[in-house]
Amino acid sequence: MHIVWFKRDLRVTDHEPLSAAAAAGDVLCLYAFEPEAWQQPEADARHYAFLTECLESLRRALAARGARLCVTHMDMPDALARIEHDLGTIDAVYAHEETGAAWTHARDECVRGWLRGRAIPLHEWPANGVVRGLGTRDRWSRHWDRRMAPQPLPAPSAIVDASCARLDDGIPPLSALPLSPATHRSLQQGGEANAWALLEGFLDHRGVEYRHAMSSPVTAFDGCSRISPHLALGCLSIRQAHHALEAKRAALRGSNDRLPGHLDSLKAFAGRLRWHCHFIQKLEDEPELEWRNLDRSCDGLRTEDASMWTHQERAAFEGWRDGQTGFPMVDACMRALHAHGWINFRMRAMLMSFAGYQLWLHWRQPAIHLARLFTDYEPGIHYSQAQMQTGTTGINAPRIYSPAKQVRDHDPAGHFIRRWIPALSDVPDSWLAEPYRMPANLQARYGCRIGSDYPAPAVDPETAYRAARECIASLRRNPAQRAEAQRLYTKHGSRKRRQRR
Ligand SMILES: Cc1cc2nc3c(=O)[nH]c(=O)nc-3n(C[C@H](O)[C@H](O)[C@H](O)COP(=O)(O)OP(=O)(O)OC[C@H]3O[C@@H](n4cnc5c(N)ncnc54)[C@H](O)[C@@H]3O)c2cc1C
Repeated sequence: MHIVWFKRDLRVTDHEPLSAAAAAGDVLCLYAFEPEAWQQPEADARHYAFLTECLESLRRALAARGARLCVTHMDMPDALARIEHDLGTIDAVYAHEETGAAWTHARDECVRGWLRGRAIPLHEWPANGVVRGLGTRDRWSRHWDRRMAPQPLPAPSAIVDASCARLDDGIPPLSALPLSPATHRSLQQGGEANAWALLEGFLDHRGVEYRHAMSSPVTAFDGCSRISPHLALGCLSIRQAHHALEAKRAALRGSNDRLPGHLDSLKAFAGRLRWHCHFIQKLEDEPELEWRNLDRSCDGLRTEDASMWTHQERAAFEGWRDGQTGFPMVDACMRALHAHGWINFRMRAMLMSFAGYQLWLHWRQPAIHLARLFTDYEPGIHYSQAQMQTGTTGINAPRIYSPAKQVRDHDPAGHFIRRWIPALSDVPDSWLAEPYRMPANLQARYGCRIGSDYPAPAVDPETAYRAARECIASLRRNPAQRAEAQRLYTKHGSRKRRQRR
């Protein structure tokens, strides 16, 4: 019996473990709804909802090939022990490598130990462009190119099923997990078919204006690919996305009636697929970045332990978390995120930067909050970006976003702001970026009294900006920081041009 252990690779195509196991003999397809996963602070009902759809889709795809998906509610070593007890000898386990949060490393070690103790082989394949045991960042891009080069595998046409009905506990109801009921309204739908529909629609038409549409929350919901939750749970592999993209680019190059800008947009998209793995590689190489400043000279800069926060810090965090900071772009983005489970890159960066710089909060609690809200939560990208946007990576130029500038640049007509902040509905465009500057008579005229209809600003924007900039600048003048930056560049730095977006 050959066990395929599905983790965050919920598809049947381009799945080397599944193809190898199907070629080797009888197969048991296993997904463990591990209790520990749902006890993590980042876990949320929206992840459960999306995952459930992915599992249902995987179940159907496997059934069409003759195999059953067995869902267990146990930790993996217990699940394996039960299978061995009920079905007899396990010949081998087949899986993708996972670059996940710390608990997944510990879990993988446990599984390896269990299998070693019984001399059962574990066959593992890379899940994407991330290199396990990478010695140096030099030439990392070539590794990525080599990984992406082979054609994606087709799904096995038939699978000889080794499972049995009593091993399948089914998907647990949400009420069985330690999660609050979902409050979202409009999340993305999981599953392989949905992933392909999104990718193809993006490559064919939605992505034509990608380069210009990606930055504004008015246009990004349609103008970005939206494949991120599918990549996070593996309904689609990075290699599949890469090959579909390259096929489209080749077709467009040979076409006389391609739309202006389409090829440039797809080039920008190609860069993002590479970034996906570049950021996860950081977590692979330095798992501590999930909870520890990459740049150690930033330790102590902000209060990490939330139980030690002052009343002011706590209030600032809660206002940010609830979309009640008094800064319209911050609040609108947070409210949109609560409803949709997605917001575009620039607005994620602004949300994080605002928490880290203007509110001077340590990145850890805000990052956990955002992880709960993002349907596409991917630890390697998420924590690397959370640190990057709050100035603790040591090698990226600090960038303090002005929420008012984001309104002027990306929502000058107030479509997005008014949609998410009804209190600002009648406020003219010219005051939308900084409604707190409206004189009292205008506040009354436009039905938006600051402090009662809409919150007063959580901080004075200029003072907070200057204080944050000075703090980071003085840190960077420190010779110890410069030595740390060199260490970080060697270990994690992109050898290509700096990321700009
Ligand atoms: C604070 C913060 C937290 C983030 N957390 C996550 C996360 O948990 N999961 C996640 O997938 N992305 C995260 N991102 C990166 C980025 O915002 C999302 O990948 C992107 O918005 C997803 O939407 P999309 O699929 O339409 O992206 P597109 O713009 O269509 O890009 C296609 C794919 O490229 C990759 N990509 C795009 N931008 C980036 C980037 N800057 N860094 C790394 N990969 C990128 C993603 O896999 C994305 O799905 C975060 C960014 C910030 C600033």
